[in-house]
Amino acid sequence: MDKTIRLFDQLPSESEFEARVISCLPDGQGKYAVVLDKTLFFPEEGGQACDTGVLGGVEVIHVCEKERVIYHTVAEPLAEGSLVSGKIDFCERFRKMQNHTGEHIVSGLIFKNFGFSNVGFHLGKDIMTADFDGVLDGEQLLLIETLANRAVFECHSIRGYYPSTEELETLEYRSKLDLCENVRIVEIEGVDKCACCAPHVSNTGQVGLIKILECEKYKGGIRLYMKCGFDALDGYRAEYEQSRRISVAISARHDEVAHGVDRLLEDISSLKGEIAALKRSLMAYKLEKIEATDGNICIFEDAGLDAVSLRNMANEIKKRCGGICAVFTGDDEGGYKYIIASATVDLRDHAKEINAAISGRGGGSSEMIQGSCTAKRAEIEEYFA
Ligand SMILES: [Zn+2]
Repeated sequence: MDKTIRLFDQLPSESEFEARVISCLPDGQGKYAVVLDKTLFFPEEGGQACDTGVLGGVEVIHVCEKERVIYHTVAEPLAEGSLVSGKIDFCERFRKMQNHTGEHIVSGLIFKNFGFSNVGFHLGKDIMTADFDGVLDGEQLLLIETLANRAVFECHSIRGYYPSTEELETLEYRSKLDLCENVRIVEIEGVDKCACCAPHVSNTGQVGLIKILECEKYKGGIRLYMKCGFDALDGYRAEYEQSRRISVAISARHDEVAHGVDRLLEDISSLKGEIAALKRSLMAYKLEKIEATDGNICIFEDAGLDAVSLRNMANEIKKRCGGICAVFTGDDEGGYKYIIASATVDLRDHAKEINAAISGRGGGSSEMIQGSCTAKRAEIEEYFA
């Protein structure tokens, strides 16, 4: 089959086209694979997701390329030989072009300034990543980001072309693969030359803001997360809204939210200290009221003590009783949680019997068992009395 003419190579800013249907065959998965004589639909290629849109009135679900023939996956068949009109989702395409060109600028600058190559690229719907075979620190990345945005503001022209084999031999360009056929060069005047099959904006000014977000160590190098153009604007809006809401919630000036959050965390930490001290004195007060006995002690505790405090309490009380000390929290409706301790009785031996008596479940060591039960308070009190 003849190669599909790649209209997006020459007309990256066009969104509508007419083409003849060369073939339309079932794809074996309930859909149809349509081949056209030419297309504006960029296939999934080189780490970039395919264009979406409409072809002959039906939605284009996916676009892929095999041996220079481009296949459009559609839900309904299109008549072979007919002329169809196609329309790509240009909003989405433009965002991709902004991001992809932004990546070329950044990758070109990293290569020029630090000698590291771009070895991986992914451009999906919400995220763009670029991988490099060397490590850059925060300061170096800031420099690259500044230079990249300067290249945007300087409005360099961009063109994609297929040089002849002889021309290609004399060209210096970046490339992930060692290709010698159908090599398309995307040249950003004065900034970068790179082998690339994807559509790009025609001027760096169209890229808009380039923002490097995260940098993580990846396969001995780094992976950068970036946003350009409208995606960078959307990201800025979302982050601004987040910090605005935080600023209102913590009553801090918008440009001082981080400081405000630090203060809040300090407050929380000192409050935690105060609460712990209060719990300790509350427990001491309660313990004072409990008289020593040779028998069992059973108390119901609803002062909002946490599990650790309750365990400490049980350990203290068991020193004052000759039998079993049981601490319950909860109520008759929702059931109770218990901690049972003893200095004299092996609780592992008695756990079964105790659980049976209070309709409970739980276990632990010979000195302490924990669990929950559904018996009513009166029944529990009666059992331990
Ligand atoms: Zn590229």
